[in-house]
Amino acid sequence: MKFRVLLSCLAILFFSCTPKSNSPQPATDVVVEFNPPQNIILMIGDGMGLTQITAGMYMNGNKLNLEQFSVVGLHKPYAFNDLITDSAAGATAFSAGVKTYNGAIGVNADTAHVQTILEEAEANGLNTGVIATSEITHATPASFFAHQPSRNQHEDIAADMLKTGVDLFIGGGKKYFDQRENDERNLMEELRKSGYVIADYFHQDFDDSLKMDPQFNFGYFTANDKPLPVAAGRDYLPYASKRAVEFLDQRNPDSGFFLMIEGSQIDWGGHANDSDYIVTEMIDFDQAIGEVLKFAEADGNTLVIVTADHETGGYAINPGSSMDTIIAGFTSGYHTGTLIPVFAYGPGSELFNGIYENTAIFDKMRLAFGFDKNEVN
Ligand code: MG
Ligand code: ZN
Repeated sequence: MKFRVLLSCLAILFFSCTPKSNSPQPATDVVVEFNPPQNIILMIGDGMGLTQITAGMYMNGNKLNLEQFSVVGLHKPYAFNDLITDSAAGATAFSAGVKTYNGAIGVNADTAHVQTILEEAEANGLNTGVIATSEITHATPASFFAHQPSRNQHEDIAADMLKTGVDLFIGGGKKYFDQRENDERNLMEELRKSGYVIADYFHQDFDDSLKMDPQFNFGYFTANDKPLPVAAGRDYLPYASKRAVEFLDQRNPDSGFFLMIEGSQIDWGGHANDSDYIVTEMIDFDQAIGEVLKFAEADGNTLVIVTADHETGGYAINPGSSMDTIIAGFTSGYHTGTLIPVFAYGPGSELFNGIYENTAIFDKMRLAFGFDKNEVN
């Protein structure tokens, strides 16, 4: 395979960082040298702007695993039809490299299907996975394996899971698979028939009672509907992330993998203008980052990217705050339009320096995998 040939040598690639969309930035030619990674793990903290990161850091004893990342960039999160993106357009920019309309799941501004990085990884023989602390059919994870004109089509998104062949998924939303309102299908059974080991129960904390045999695909439901917040007892994300990277690494040791891990509820804390909710979800997500970094450090062949789709709440740390008490301010109960940080670790991380469109994260991941070395934005 192309990417494995590339692995044996140091790739020196020339590319133009001209954005596809109407950015005011002039085109510049950039030369980046990097060792192509075998695996890419994209971690998305939904609604995780700089203030969410900062508050989580102070409230965690002034430290985060995020501080281990050597490369930090910024992306421009706006959507095709709105300066303020939602999580569907935001995730589709990462998954498929297109600016699309708010609500779009794996489709472009004309509602045409666009191939995702996860699907391209599958097509190239890599193993793939998605993990979320929302429903697995929620906008962010859905945008990696589904193609639907609206994020509200949870049952259609669930059915798309069967088309993509994701090797591993962990998240909530079991009801969209086996208690469907729009048809009689039982997607749990259909997934089993197509080679998945699937729990027929759910447990708020991911556990190993369901065997993750790397010769089968694996699906695990953590909730019938939405998983609980950390503050209400959910704690599966760090452990599920650790087990998922081990599973994908063992599934076929000769090929790499692509895994998307979402800390979904940082955003929900922002919508609720609830600083404690944001902080607890941020620290949980950072613990998952720590587990992933342990694997990446030992493996040496894994690119880890951590970013957010957008900021939520217009969250601020106001005067009077201390290391252990955040006096929070909020400007909105929705998302805001600020630049979003991108952290990268491992081979290929050098590609993520600078300021670029959110869609460039897709191009840079493809470039790192060696899927296409001539196109990057
Ligand atoms: Mg999300
Ligand atoms: Zn949101």
